[in-house]
Amino acid sequence: MNIVLFGPPGAGKGTQSQYFSKKLNYTQISTGDLLRNEIKKNTDLGKKILSRIDIGEFVDDKIVNSLIEKIVSNKNNNNKLIFDGYPRNISQAENLDYIMSKYNQSIGAIIYLDVSKKIIEKRILGRIVCEKCNLTLNEFEDKGEIQNHSCGKEYLIKRKDDNLETIMKRYDMFIMETNPLLDYYAKKPSFYKVDATVKIGEITAKIEEIVNA
Ligand code: AMP
Repeated sequence: MNIVLFGPPGAGKGTQSQYFSKKLNYTQISTGDLLRNEIKKNTDLGKKILSRIDIGEFVDDKIVNSLIEKIVSNKNNNNKLIFDGYPRNISQAENLDYIMSKYNQSIGAIIYLDVSKKIIEKRILGRIVCEKCNLTLNEFEDKGEIQNHSCGKEYLIKRKDDNLETIMKRYDMFIMETNPLLDYYAKKPSFYKVDATVKIGEITAKIEEIVNA
């Protein structure tokens, strides 16, 4: 089944999607990662994307939608997709519905990760990500894992947009643009709200329960 995870920045969408892709063979579609990959190519498109991400604004729907379609159109990914950070507004949600039907796919579970602004701030300010394997850790809470990280701890870096000012902007964008998705999706039978303030393993267990039901 295909799964959509949505919620505020720092809710744990990436961490949960990584678990599903590594352990259960899902294809993680993180629009944030896809956009950061474009930035690394240093093309004109990459520069345009960087100018938006750096200030916590959304990247144009057209750009994001076309990245998504490239992956959904690949038959190898059929029914094993986990969307992390897409859709982020109503127009993207409508586009996802359109793309799903175009490629004979459907979304089996739409999961909202519910967490407060206070917790998000703490999580994102401590967040470090491995440049090599993409693992996300927290510099305040995962000291042991940081020391023993298999790629080497020099690869663990802070994202440039994980500073307080940009986090506030990203949260405002979430409230304005993404929160309305709650109304859009709440009517669907495949919609679930999960408490994302608890431990990572407990959130994973809840999502697995939903997916296996
Ligand atoms: P994330 O890695 O999900 O925290 O996303 C990082 C940044 O990438 C966001 O703050 C946005 O600037 C951009 N971004 C990610 N996903 C989307 C999306 N679906 N639509 C527009 N912009 C996005």
